[in-house]
Amino acid sequence: MATERVLIGHDALRGFVSDTFVSAGSSRREAHLVAEQLVEANLAGHDSHGVGSIPVYVRNVRSGNLPLNQSLSVVLDSGPLLVCDGNGGAGQVMGHDAIARAIERTREHGACILGLRNSHHLGRIGHWAAQCAAEGLVSIHFVNVISAPAVAPFGGTAARIGTNPFAVGIPRDNDRPILIDFATSKLAVGKVRVALNEGKALPEGVLLTPDGVPTTDPAVLFGTPRGVLLPFGEHKGWGLGLACELLGAALTGGKTQAGPKSRDAVINSMLSIVVSPERLGTEESYFAEIARFTQWAQSAENRDVLLPGDVEAATRAERIANGIPVDAKSWSDIVAAAASVGAEPPEDIVQRPS
Ligand code: NAD
Repeated sequence: MATERVLIGHDALRGFVSDTFVSAGSSRREAHLVAEQLVEANLAGHDSHGVGSIPVYVRNVRSGNLPLNQSLSVVLDSGPLLVCDGNGGAGQVMGHDAIARAIERTREHGACILGLRNSHHLGRIGHWAAQCAAEGLVSIHFVNVISAPAVAPFGGTAARIGTNPFAVGIPRDNDRPILIDFATSKLAVGKVRVALNEGKALPEGVLLTPDGVPTTDPAVLFGTPRGVLLPFGEHKGWGLGLACELLGAALTGGKTQAGPKSRDAVINSMLSIVVSPERLGTEESYFAEIARFTQWAQSAENRDVLLPGDVEAATRAERIANGIPVDAKSWSDIVAAAASVGAEPPEDIVQRPS
């Protein structure tokens, strides 16, 4: 049975999200940055990190777990080393402003090691890699998540770590950047939520019940006690998720997930390494070798070989043209969250059922 969905134009959706956050108390700039990143995530096809996050964000604003209109605190600014504290404020602002500073430092010094700790949810991490790539800069991002632990270490069945995302942005010459961006669990929590809202079963081998029994029922992840996601790639995903935990948080002066959830906020800390190929003196060979390699990698007879970032670019083009699909349950939750802060969508926002 087809899931009921609504279709919404990206500009109208941006406007509604922005109005919602202004009604909740955000400055226009904050509301704009939140709307921009959430809608970009939907355009990229990552509905798990798009406007479906609004009910959680609004709940956190109302409970004091997402303080609005915070500014980034610069804790250390020493040559290529930059450490910032997000003060638990909106990740869309903290991520944007911290990365903008890291880009400045990279222009100055050729590279920057940025620690951004204690930010509220940073959303789609590829967004920050894309911000660097738009300036011709390579970037690598290790991120930890402080929330209810959702993922078991390899070999375990108890949730001990978050879905800790990892991203790399690789700009190219006259072509869109390669954007590698994923959770280190088999599925991101938001994707399990989307499956639940759409009434779909999960693939096998992704989720365990709290007793450690494999299940495909997405509701298990949100039960009490909660189910447990598994790391992707067995021991390799566990290793990368661990690196995200320790580099994203411990090295930046942030907090690791060393215990059960203590409050409702979703806190991210991120280590970003930003490099200028131009300042490294390798720009010419960098671009030439990337073109040579990608051509070779895609030259086999299997013409379905894609580069990371291709799927998102294709989805973006399609959704800009035809609208963003939102499942009916998520949409009614979003509208209810907006109503709780006194905002409502324009009457004609829904284009047509898909
Ligand atoms: P995913 O499993 O959809 O993987 C996405 C990556 O795989 C992208 O780089 C994409 O281009 C690439 N890809 C997809 N199909 C491909 C193909 N056929 N060939 C080559 N490459 C391909 O991502 P995910 O794990 O579901 O993560 C979704 C989003 O969630 C990410 O943007 C991530 O940053 C975000 N996230 C954020 C948090 C947080 O706390 N802020 C936590 C977890 C995940």
